[in-house]
Amino acid sequence: LKLYYQPKVNIATGAIIGAEALVRWLHPERGMVPPSEFIPVAEESGLIVHIGTWVMEAACKQARAWLDAGFPPMHIAVNLSARDFSIGLPQRVDQLLKDHGIGPEWLELEITEGMLMNNTETVITMMNEISALGIALSLDDFGTGYSSLSYLKRFPIDTLKIDRSFVINIPDDGNDCAIAGAIISMSKQLKHNVIAEGVETLDQLAFLKSMGCDEIQGYLFSPPVPPEKFE
Ligand code: C2E
Ligand code: CA
Ligand code: CA
Repeated sequence: LKLYYQPKVNIATGAIIGAEALVRWLHPERGMVPPSEFIPVAEESGLIVHIGTWVMEAACKQARAWLDAGFPPMHIAVNLSARDFSIGLPQRVDQLLKDHGIGPEWLELEITEGMLMNNTETVITMMNEISALGIALSLDDFGTGYSSLSYLKRFPIDTLKIDRSFVINIPDDGNDCAIAGAIISMSKQLKHNVIAEGVETLDQLAFLKSMGCDEIQGYLFSPPVPPEKFE
């Protein structure tokens, strides 16, 4: 396994403000296997628990290496699967930060709406603990899941990530523009940060900027790249 990193960029300043860590399987015969092919299988078999642990550890090691190399702190966002999001996660994350000697400003966790639907009280407690550690939480693929708006006020979420499916047909599709615009405006009013994923064109960027979107991630700026290239 190897982690690739895709930059997240502040629209106003053009600065890289973070990176999403995306796992790749470097298969000896099949070449690079994308996560869409093996993550679902790993989730079914339970192997995802080991992958999740490996990813978190690898991201912290990378953070430490970038800290040692003199890079300013930036959020490295790790994708959590439902199984990672279990009791003990706040303690595990806290321990990882300590083991690698990095501050919470180096880490961010991406969760999806589906993870918030069950065991709500337990989940809120865990999220509050993670938040109290100073680690940012973002809600991935926003708008594609159950989208219960009530959790936006109940959960300590820092950032909403507009799903790529709403970005892809901007600015031609009026409905997608309306949905993306509404998510941005709601984020602002709730005082959440908002990022659009899958931004590929200048037209998409111009629209998102005009609506007040804070950040973008996508091929327009850079695809996910190995750490050497990210540097
Ligand atoms: P995701 O979290 O929604 O990640 C964003 C996906 O969009 C990534 O695909 C990224 O390469 C892709 N992407 C980013 N910008 C663009 C763009 O401008 N155009 C297009 N066409 N695509 C773009 P990737 O790396 O194949 O990952 C797919 C999914 O696999 C991720 O979706 C995530 O759900 C899962 N995944 C990846 N790494 C991990 C991991 O370490 N742990 C877990 N649990 N899931 C992971
Ligand atoms: Ca993600
Ligand atoms: Ca996503």
